[in-house]
Amino acid sequence: MKHSLAQGFEPDLQTDASRNRSDAAVRQQFFADTDVTRRRAIRRGLWVAVLIYLLFSLTDILLVPDVSIHTTFARVVVGIAALLALELQVRAGTRADFMDLTCAVALVCGYLGWLLPAMMTSYTTNMSYYMVFGAIFMMGANLFFTFNFALSLVASGVVLCIYFGALNYLHEDIYYRIAFGTFYLACFSFTSYVNWRLNRERARVLLSAVEAKIRQREAEERGEALLRLSNTDPMTGVANRRAVDAQLRLLWSDWTTSKRNFAVFLIDVDFFKKYNDYYGHQEGDRCLVQVARALQLAVSDRDALIGRYGGEEFIALLRFNTRQEVDKVAELLRRAVEDLCLAHERRRDGTSVITVSVGVSFTRPAPEHKLERLIYEADRALYLAKESGRNRIKLFDPDDPLTSDDTENVAALLDIAIQQNLVSLVYQPIRSLANDRVQAAEALMRLRLLDGTLVPPSIFIPIAERIGKITDLGLWAIRTACQQMLQTGKVQVVSVNVSPIQLKRPGFATSVAAILGELGIGGGQLALEITEGLEMDMDSDVLRCISDLRMLGIKIWLDDFGTGFAGLSWLRLIEFDTVKIDKSFLHDGTSLRGKAMLKDIIGLIRNRGPKILVEGVETVEQLHLMQQFKIDHVQGYFVGRPVSAEAFEVSRANGVKGMR
Ligand code: C2E
Ligand code: MG
Ligand code: MG
Repeated sequence: MKHSLAQGFEPDLQTDASRNRSDAAVRQQFFADTDVTRRRAIRRGLWVAVLIYLLFSLTDILLVPDVSIHTTFARVVVGIAALLALELQVRAGTRADFMDLTCAVALVCGYLGWLLPAMMTSYTTNMSYYMVFGAIFMMGANLFFTFNFALSLVASGVVLCIYFGALNYLHEDIYYRIAFGTFYLACFSFTSYVNWRLNRERARVLLSAVEAKIRQREAEERGEALLRLSNTDPMTGVANRRAVDAQLRLLWSDWTTSKRNFAVFLIDVDFFKKYNDYYGHQEGDRCLVQVARALQLAVSDRDALIGRYGGEEFIALLRFNTRQEVDKVAELLRRAVEDLCLAHERRRDGTSVITVSVGVSFTRPAPEHKLERLIYEADRALYLAKESGRNRIKLFDPDDPLTSDDTENVAALLDIAIQQNLVSLVYQPIRSLANDRVQAAEALMRLRLLDGTLVPPSIFIPIAERIGKITDLGLWAIRTACQQMLQTGKVQVVSVNVSPIQLKRPGFATSVAAILGELGIGGGQLALEITEGLEMDMDSDVLRCISDLRMLGIKIWLDDFGTGFAGLSWLRLIEFDTVKIDKSFLHDGTSLRGKAMLKDIIGLIRNRGPKILVEGVETVEQLHLMQQFKIDHVQGYFVGRPVSAEAFEVSRANGVKGMR
């Protein structure tokens, strides 16, 4: 379990390396986001700065009118060049840092562009005051733009140096130089200091914002992981029941509103209980994980969901456009598991690998079509797939009597069948060839609909098995057969058919013992027929139940021998009192090959010791053949048709007559 759990969760567990990678990605994304806003701010800042710079042409005209034409020209040239360079960078998507550099260069050029022509003025006194204007450029570098500290320092430092150069050139007066020089230096130091503080603060804010972003991303990832977890089957990693139900509701609402078709595939691992019993639960879990992965891989390129629907049952939900698509996907799913080639030595049906049975239903316009109904239909189809030998696909067919609406009616009817006397038993004589006497009879169940229509056992028995009603019906049949045939002394032995499902139910043997005790009937008068055909799992529960029944003296017969896959292994596992050879072998016995086959089967059973009964004897020739083969008992229309308990006397007389 641990192994599979780890496998299931692996994608959710983030390693440190991957977390660091994702942090770096978040940081990068954050800076990319802030770069955009920074670039926008730089562009706006430079446009404003150039505008103000140009407006200062007016002060040029007032203070240095003789050179104002030159200063204004210089202002226009520098301003336009700076804006041009910036706009080109904007178009080229240049990083904000480079745009800052352009601004810094523009700032220095702007200062030089004004200062150099202004220094040529003859208004030297005015100019000596006007020189203070240079401090604005320094402030611009440190406070107006949001340059990083180094760039601010260099830009404002260059402005300072240019100023000192100009001061040297312009003024001889030492006091003037000291006063203005100190002012400039102070201005440089204060604005640089403020810029440093601002940069630090900005970095802090930026860092917290990145942190917050990372935290937010982590929280989102955790939320997503939690959601994934709550929708994932922890062992196999596919969708769990909850997620499947949600998806089903979604698909159904799409179907009802916009008629988008979807199909439901129920996928059951064949003989999984046997696999678990033999290979152990850990291997069983591992097998389910592999099956889940194979299923997921099979539909990975389609709009489909794979989920775990029960223990060894998976579900696939698929939107489709054509029926062929549904067939194709069903086959893909079946084959994906078969191709895994996971060894399953215990299944004894001629296959030795893990396979799945698939039942499919799909949306179709039909009155009272409901979601529950769709699942029920897939379930029915799955049951039929298993029933017809497993490792196969069955698509729900609304026209199939076993899958039609009648199934639901029959299921509902079975609930009230006993109280409403809708079930009854008929008895078919079994003749012993040793003394030519009918000493036993087989009880066969009959069900009538409320309108009196007879439902054949081939229809209602599988339904009763499926819905679990067979337990009650089976016990009722045993009690009724004992009362009608044994208590009245009509036959010495009555045989009743039982489904392996009944034998698996805990307490079955005890219930039978209670019936026998209550009716005062010896166990030796009752025989139970187990059909080999349908349900093939002969597990330890069944074996234990059979041994309990044998302890009560009850006879165990193997019915329909040769129709299923498990007959031979059952013969080895269980000591049957009688084996009933399926009528198909007798009916094939007309040909030489068929006769040889029948002879071989008889020989095979005889070697193991049980008595042999051949079913389906319909003609005198068949009866003679049975006598020739020294068969112990025969049963069939020639000996007598199944009749009610009241009519049974006549039937026996007929049977005896038929012998003569
Ligand atoms: P089965 O136990 O093998 O019963 C024999 C079936 O063969 C019966 O069909 C019977 O009517 C039919 N049959 C008998 N003689 C001949 C013959 O000479 N020729 C032909 N062609 N058929 C013959 P039925 O009554 O339709 O039962 C079908 C199956 O339903 C039974 O096969 C048995 O597996 C199942 N079944 C019947 N009653 C019960 C029951 O009470 N409990 C359970 N679990 N299964 C039952
Ligand atoms: Mg039978
Ligand atoms: Mg039979």
